[in-house]
Amino acid sequence: MTGKSSTKKSLTYCFNMDGKTVRFIDTPGIIDTEGPNQDHRNVKEILRMLESVGKLSAILILLTPNDPRLDATFRFCMTELLTRLHRDTSQNILFGFTNANTTSFKLGATMIPLDEILKELQTGIVRGESNEYFFDSEGFMFLAAYKQNLQEMAGGKSHHATLWTQSAGEVHRLVTTVMGLPTHDVSMTLKLNRTRSFLEGLAKTLANFTTSTKTSQKRLENAERELAEAIAHGGNLAEKAKTKITITVPVRYNLPRKQTVCCHPSCVSQVKDENGVLRTVFKTVCHDNCDITVPDEIKGVHDLQYCSPFRRWLKIFAGYACQQEKCKHDWTEHMHISYEFRNEERMIDIDDEEVIDKIRSNEGAMQILKRQIQTAQKHQEMIRKERAQIQTARALFYVYLSQNSVGRSSAYSDATVQYLDLHIAVANQDGRTEDATELTRQKSSHTEEIKTLKNAIAAGTVSYPDEEAVDREIEGLKNMTLLGKDLIDAFDQRNVEFEGCPFIQVESKSKTKKGPWFRWL
Ligand SMILES: [Zn+2]
Ligand SMILES: [Zn+2]
Ligand SMILES: [Zn+2]
Repeated sequence: MTGKSSTKKSLTYCFNMDGKTVRFIDTPGIIDTEGPNQDHRNVKEILRMLESVGKLSAILILLTPNDPRLDATFRFCMTELLTRLHRDTSQNILFGFTNANTTSFKLGATMIPLDEILKELQTGIVRGESNEYFFDSEGFMFLAAYKQNLQEMAGGKSHHATLWTQSAGEVHRLVTTVMGLPTHDVSMTLKLNRTRSFLEGLAKTLANFTTSTKTSQKRLENAERELAEAIAHGGNLAEKAKTKITITVPVRYNLPRKQTVCCHPSCVSQVKDENGVLRTVFKTVCHDNCDITVPDEIKGVHDLQYCSPFRRWLKIFAGYACQQEKCKHDWTEHMHISYEFRNEERMIDIDDEEVIDKIRSNEGAMQILKRQIQTAQKHQEMIRKERAQIQTARALFYVYLSQNSVGRSSAYSDATVQYLDLHIAVANQDGRTEDATELTRQKSSHTEEIKTLKNAIAAGTVSYPDEEAVDREIEGLKNMTLLGKDLIDAFDQRNVEFEGCPFIQVESKSKTKKGPWFRWL
């Protein structure tokens, strides 16, 4: 894994051992001397290679046995790899230590950082004789040199013969172990990765739909009250019967170009929308036409660091500042935007306008009004149910993602929480307290849902959500009576592109308030 990695593309070697064919797939190394961008490409290449394999018997992670300097880069790469592998692979993960002669075929200083990261990522992998193997290529190198009559190698023939025997013994032990391991169905790992990017990308959509249910709820309650008042007070009921009952539905509009923008207080500004309400505008575009695939509107989302203004391999880890002169902020201050939601009103009362127009008598109008009240009530019930369904689904998605990889870092970030946190901060900053309250309520019910689900799993009343559970939940969302169709539209991105920046509406006089709460956004 360390040093100048020679492989950039995966290569497959086939060997015949004891009448069995063993296929070795040599993948690019991670912790590449060319820096983290190459590491990232290499991890992608490993996953690409997996696409062509149906089943795997073992995953052999090669390390040197005596490296106390396995630092942040090592941790980063192990996390990258292990969090992308399905947890079923944990029994297929083996460790191979090269240059083992330096430590007499035992594990040296590498032990501490390796054990630490395995524990930290909650892999459940217990390192021991059954999953660690020691090799040394010096015996082979001696043989190659010997053939060229260079017999004067330090250590002499018998020393190298011992190394050869020991390494060969380890290879046999490895192959015997691998033959006995249950094979891993690679599609599980691929599905995990595909599901992950799909589910993380849903954070914005599900949050917008959840928010819209509150708006719809209010609309329906108001309509119900007004209609009831009309009945109670009399008057022109025929006119009142024309009241339209509507709900709010978020409609997705793709941006003409995807962008990476900066969220730092000095890179944003506030403008008034058509209703005179202040709205934060992310006006500093640090990468226009950005083709990176990361979830929308999540500040500092992991893969954003590979966006072009941050690519500098000399700065291996911390302090990836933006190269844009007007910005210069750390990559974690940025987010990606590729689409926006616009709330649109949709009528739900089905009464034919012509019929309503023909109503002349108060009694006829009364019947219509009563039916409309019933419609409003029925839809309040439906919208409450669908809000709860969305909340349950996204809790399940998070638990699935945080539990189904080999590496389950307790720090695994929840895209929903990150999305909500950003928008709570923005709403507070704009003085939109009602919005902030709704989003905060959403966040606490989300964390509550997760707690309930985790408790149920711990108590054994519910099993760990697997791929099928996720599929079922998505199907359930698509089949929702009221919002299902709109959700499908939002998933499938079928909406037309529109021109111009979606955030700028009406420019206000520069009365931007920057209170202390502004700073942490
Ligand atoms: Zn970019
Ligand atoms: Zn920037
Ligand atoms: Zn900035």
